[in-house]
Amino acid sequence: MITRQEDFSKWYLDTIQQADLMDYSPVRGSMIFKPDGYEMWEHIQTAFDKRFKEEGVRNAYFPMLIPEHFFAKEADHIEGFSPELPFVTEAGGEKLEEKLALRPTSETMIGDAYSRWIQSYRDLPLMLNQWANVFRWEKRTLPFLRTSEFLWQEGHTAHADAEEAKERTMRMLEIYKEVVEDVLAVPVFSGEKTPSERFAGAENTYSIEAMVQDGRAIQAGTSHFMGTRFAEAFDITYLNQDNEHVYAYTTSWGVSTRLIGTLIMMHGDDQGLIIPPAVAPRQVVLMPVGPWKKNPEILEKLKELQHQLHEAGIRTVLDDSDQSPGFKFNEWEMRGVPLRIEFGPRDLENGTVVLKARDVEDKHFVEIDQLVSAVEEELNAMQARLFERAKKMNEQHVYTNIDTLDELKEHIEEKRAAGERAGWVLAGWDGTEESEAKIQEETGFTTRHIPFEGMVEPKEKCIVTGKPAKYTVWIARAY
Ligand code: AMP
Repeated sequence: MITRQEDFSKWYLDTIQQADLMDYSPVRGSMIFKPDGYEMWEHIQTAFDKRFKEEGVRNAYFPMLIPEHFFAKEADHIEGFSPELPFVTEAGGEKLEEKLALRPTSETMIGDAYSRWIQSYRDLPLMLNQWANVFRWEKRTLPFLRTSEFLWQEGHTAHADAEEAKERTMRMLEIYKEVVEDVLAVPVFSGEKTPSERFAGAENTYSIEAMVQDGRAIQAGTSHFMGTRFAEAFDITYLNQDNEHVYAYTTSWGVSTRLIGTLIMMHGDDQGLIIPPAVAPRQVVLMPVGPWKKNPEILEKLKELQHQLHEAGIRTVLDDSDQSPGFKFNEWEMRGVPLRIEFGPRDLENGTVVLKARDVEDKHFVEIDQLVSAVEEELNAMQARLFERAKKMNEQHVYTNIDTLDELKEHIEEKRAAGERAGWVLAGWDGTEESEAKIQEETGFTTRHIPFEGMVEPKEKCIVTGKPAKYTVWIARAY
């Protein structure tokens, strides 16, 4: 297998296929989620869904086909999304009177519904989420990270005033950060997107961004404050306490199956996947070792241990195939199973098992009657270790002392020559689109976002023009 150092993108593509997470489909840019890939999504979903419900957000489902004219109602929205929209133009053997878009996002469909559902201040806030597939005809695609059809959640809320809507926008960004850090063990940076990177139709877009192992950035989730723009476009008005008809303020926020690609690029190694225990389809693999076939007690005992773990809510697989232990070790390591339990004749005699975590070299013995608590402890420890390791890696690859484009180019070139990562650079920016475009043209770096106040030491000068910096931004190569 190719190493990450040799070619990170190829390593990624090989790993996800060998680990049996996905397959390609005949349609360009769309992919099949195989059970291990899909189950990771299910665990991610469960974690988010619980948090959304705690916030008072309820799930609903809206139709996938959206009449074309809905998109024309919000000028920026159509401009942003029209290059990416696939349409249904024919059905039942007849040409349709109006083309129907396959939703790229549902502000329009939901805006239309909200205009009917929201009449009075008593109907607010309205906070719904949907779990769905969406379509965006992307030019460049990469499995999980950027596909033409992807799975996601989209939350849509409507509020009586701007303040409350802004709070909701920020609160959901916080929840994204918490879940991605706690469950995916992926540290993220939060901040506000620059105007050119804003969601089409939003007043403000905020993002969480991850820095994966090759130093590149992945936009892991976004939360948008729409002001009254969609309310104006779709006539979402309500009667306030003073008996006036006024516009509601709306928000939307989404995370997608891109998160699966993110955690793979964050944690994997040259042996294959390393999956954080919280999202691993199988958290523990049990396998007999040594001359185990001669003594049926070994397999019986392993099945009993598996049962105990199962009762404790731990996801396991027992590999009693006749492959050699070495083969099995490799196979399950490649699939990223967090913990391995080995059990052979000597262990049976001693009343112990051997426990090995995927991310560390050493194995250790555990008393059989302590197994469940030892496994629980080890899974938690590994989850924490992965996060800490990722965080350290991130800290080592941020650069805050690059002040000009020439310095940036030099930095990128030096790192490339040394086979190292260029990472993220904190840059001063004069706030103009020209400067932003120039960074990209000349270096391939793009603005990731403007970190929130207090998170970084502000830069004084624009990295492009040398003029006073209006903002301090993270810039990096991005997926
Ligand atoms: P947006 O509605 O554009 O803010 O998208 C919400 C989130 O979906 C983004 O922050 C990305 O993490 C993710 N996303 C956007 N486009 C794609 C895509 N083509 N494939 C997978 N995930 C995507």
